[in-house]
Amino acid sequence: MSGTAVSSRDDVSKSVLSSLECPVCMEYIAPPITLCQNGHNICSCCRKKMFRCPVCEGQFLSVRNRALEDIAAAIEYPCRFSHLGCDEAYPMDRIGKHHSKCSYRVYSCFFDKLSVCGWKGRRQDIKRHVLDAHEKGALDLDDGASSCVSWEVPNSNCYRDSLQVVFCLGEVFLYLKRFDDSRKKLFVLVRYVGGRSAAARYRYKLKLRAPDGTQKASFCSTPLTEMDETERVFEAGECVVVDFDLLLRFVKAVKTMKILRVDDVVTEL
Ligand SMILES: [Zn+2]
Ligand SMILES: [Zn+2]
Ligand SMILES: [Zn+2]
Ligand SMILES: [Zn+2]
Repeated sequence: MSGTAVSSRDDVSKSVLSSLECPVCMEYIAPPITLCQNGHNICSCCRKKMFRCPVCEGQFLSVRNRALEDIAAAIEYPCRFSHLGCDEAYPMDRIGKHHSKCSYRVYSCFFDKLSVCGWKGRRQDIKRHVLDAHEKGALDLDDGASSCVSWEVPNSNCYRDSLQVVFCLGEVFLYLKRFDDSRKKLFVLVRYVGGRSAAARYRYKLKLRAPDGTQKASFCSTPLTEMDETERVFEAGECVVVDFDLLLRFVKAVKTMKILRVDDVVTEL
């Protein structure tokens, strides 16, 4: 095997891999892969949120790119943090899970938007940093065993914007509340720190229960990931949304948040 043959093969796999990258979320595109009228590929998640091709603004076609899907099924994907030193590669159905747990990935402190912290580090170091530097913003519920955790939302804190990092089920979640006066709604959002396929294994729930037990309401959703931009999610209401009217009926209610692991069979379609 000559050197040039190897390098041209490397070039081929690089160009195949780059056509398998979604131009919007930059994740590898999993089948079904759909096309725009000019042949650009996009992942099904991003396509749902767009009316036109993000590359050329052309219309989407209703056909699938079977050739690329076959290639996608046959190759191994290098970890997207290979430039940081990770040398692992996996088939399409497992690379997402690896990305969400890859120990080479570098995260910025979640509190950077509220106050400048500037910390950057790996997933396994997030907990120590948050407990050390942002203790009030941490909720440590890891017990190593259960597949479900819950905590009470104090009524005093219910009507306030907040961000907390929740350590539970061996994972890291962000728990955000947004009290929107102009839209008369409370938005509650749980974000999974990691990839989409791993996030799909969890649900979060907000339960309201009147003190006398007569009235109940509950809301459930799937955690978002960092691919989903917070402002857009609040704007589109793609999280738990509670109307003020309902909230007023539950002023003194016990409010419980819950994060649970769902059946492993459930996958994102
Ligand atoms: Zn995408
Ligand atoms: Zn296009
Ligand atoms: Zn990796
Ligand atoms: Zn920090």
